[in-house]
Amino acid sequence: MEVPQHLLGRDVACSCQKVHRVPIEQTVVDVDMMSSLSQFISNHGWTRILMVADVNTYRAFGERVEEALASSSISVHTYVFAKEHGLLADEVAVAAVTSEIANNPSDVVLAVGSGVINDIVRYVTFRKGLPYISVATAPSMDGYASTMAAMQFDGIKVTSTTHSPIAIFAHPKVLSEAPWELLQSGFGDLIGKVISLLDWKLAHALYSETLCQTAYDVVSEPLNFVISHAGDILSRDQTAAKNLFIGLVNSGISMALMGNSRPASGCEHHCSHYWDLAAYQGRRAHYSHGIQVGYATYSMIEFYKYIESLPRINVPKVEPVSEEFERYANQFYGSGAKEVIAAQVEKYEWLQRMTFRSELRIADLVTALQPELNRLDAVREALLTVGITGDLYQIEVDDALRMETFLHARELRSRYTAFDFLVGQGLLQSAASRAVMTGHSS
Ligand SMILES: [Zn+2]
Ligand SMILES: [Zn+2]
Repeated sequence: MEVPQHLLGRDVACSCQKVHRVPIEQTVVDVDMMSSLSQFISNHGWTRILMVADVNTYRAFGERVEEALASSSISVHTYVFAKEHGLLADEVAVAAVTSEIANNPSDVVLAVGSGVINDIVRYVTFRKGLPYISVATAPSMDGYASTMAAMQFDGIKVTSTTHSPIAIFAHPKVLSEAPWELLQSGFGDLIGKVISLLDWKLAHALYSETLCQTAYDVVSEPLNFVISHAGDILSRDQTAAKNLFIGLVNSGISMALMGNSRPASGCEHHCSHYWDLAAYQGRRAHYSHGIQVGYATYSMIEFYKYIESLPRINVPKVEPVSEEFERYANQFYGSGAKEVIAAQVEKYEWLQRMTFRSELRIADLVTALQPELNRLDAVREALLTVGITGDLYQIEVDDALRMETFLHARELRSRYTAFDFLVGQGLLQSAASRAVMTGHSS
């Protein structure tokens, strides 16, 4: 499996009528990536590098990168976050990297690490107008190629539109040796795209939302590999780790193609966001993003099987955001209420604006949702292979929170998903109860 180099660093006139541009110039996932990295830096004429890592990623790879660059006469200043665990992409981290840049003028910043390090560096370099290179240490998440930085300000997750790295480098051996939780997390994040793609196709089939085939294919192709190679991920096979990483990078590329996260984030991600919020409210501990997405995917399989089993599609009832909802949102979401209400208003306006294809029959919908619907059993098997099950107690989601998530996760975003379809059909409660029940029997 390869990164679609032909989509990188140039204008791509697409069949969806758009011209896409992914501003990533190069992606190298190979054993000799170090020489490609030095070459890339010298080709740009850069001489002053700021490298940002944390203690773990510095040990895992940063030290070697530093040595390799120094031996090619590139001057590297290194900043290492001292925190062994729980580093957040928050105000404190942003201030630390901002001050490093101020004190050590640099041509480019190297982010050596996975999710959090990339988010911090992406956010700061965007604000400072500096390019950054991602040197990935784990196939842990899909954000490497993305323009979105998942930040946490005032304890609330906020997605900030920033910029992609100018290049991405990774060593297959380093990827395969990442902590198991990170591999498992990357696996969960990638396999969850089956649900993201289903949500996208659902909106496309019912409301003719634009579906870009190029972006779709970039996400979809690596899924086949991951679904059938869960065992190789488990045994840390280098090729499997490399392909998992490429799948994740490609998901990021698809988001960069679209300029939003539609191809790679649906209701399974909304569940994960809801659990993050519950963790922030002190109702459970925090678990890693991709692992939560994996558990959510396991549950959302039930929702799509439910949709598949419906006898018919009814013309949905679309109701505007009520005062009652606003009161509840203000009480429950506190300082986040404004965003939640705005998202629901946006969703209502979207539903008003789009034309519901009332002629669509359930059989047509099931056909439109292939091949994903037919993959769901294999997805479940693959999740079980890497230790992600239907038992949400493993991530401290009890039955009450599980039900609450299924009923309310849709409030967090304006994006149309399976949850919104079921609300329109008056069936969300019934689907949620069924999914909670099935969770127990699995
Ligand atoms: Zn994700
Ligand atoms: Zn397109």
